[in-house]
Amino acid sequence: MSEELVTLHRVQQADTEIARHVEALSELDTGAEISSEMAAIEAELSDLRKKLEEAENENLDRELEAKTLEEKRKRFQDQLYSGSVRNPRQLTDLHQEVEMLGREVRKIEDRVLDLMEAIESLRAEIASREGRLGEATTQLEAVRSEYERKGARLKERVEELQSQRREDAAHVGARLLKRYEQVRGRSGNLGLVRVTGGNCPGCMIDLPQETVKALRAGRAGLTCDSCGRLLFWGEGGQ
Ligand SMILES: [Zn+2]
Repeated sequence: MSEELVTLHRVQQADTEIARHVEALSELDTGAEISSEMAAIEAELSDLRKKLEEAENENLDRELEAKTLEEKRKRFQDQLYSGSVRNPRQLTDLHQEVEMLGREVRKIEDRVLDLMEAIESLRAEIASREGRLGEATTQLEAVRSEYERKGARLKERVEELQSQRREDAAHVGARLLKRYEQVRGRSGNLGLVRVTGGNCPGCMIDLPQETVKALRAGRAGLTCDSCGRLLFWGEGGQ
């Protein structure tokens, strides 16, 4: 096998390694999934906090309203039993007023109970989401630092391989290199294949006897008629 093909084979090995590392880099977890989960939780939290604030405000208003009406009811009731009002018509009116206010106060108190329940459940929902958000923050930090660490290592290795490839490629003839790159680009994997028997390992087609003979004799620049890949003889070799 010619020196040039040995070098081209190293170029190919570097290309394969570069592709493998670039793929590994693209498959690393960047934390995007956790980030988007966190964004969703934050949106829910902001919605829940708004609902809680509304419920708490309404609760305060209602309590105040109930207190005011209850005071009014008590005042009328005191008046009713004080003996100061004697007119039967006025007494009936007063009595009805006391009854009506009592009903209103009970209605508001029912609403206050509902609000208190809602407030309690909103607080529980907020606490559970805040808990999950805290966990996710820790997870995201771990995923990101892992990404930085692994990513830096992969990028460093890619740069090493690229520089090694440049060095080797400089020792391969321009035509041969171009040919290799074209075939590799087209087939998506190997542009140069090692023949160890009677067929082309790229497309499995049987090679002509003369081609195999020439390859064994160390001739460079031979290609497969079927797939166009560059061939080299490498029985027992690399
Ligand atoms: Zn072939």
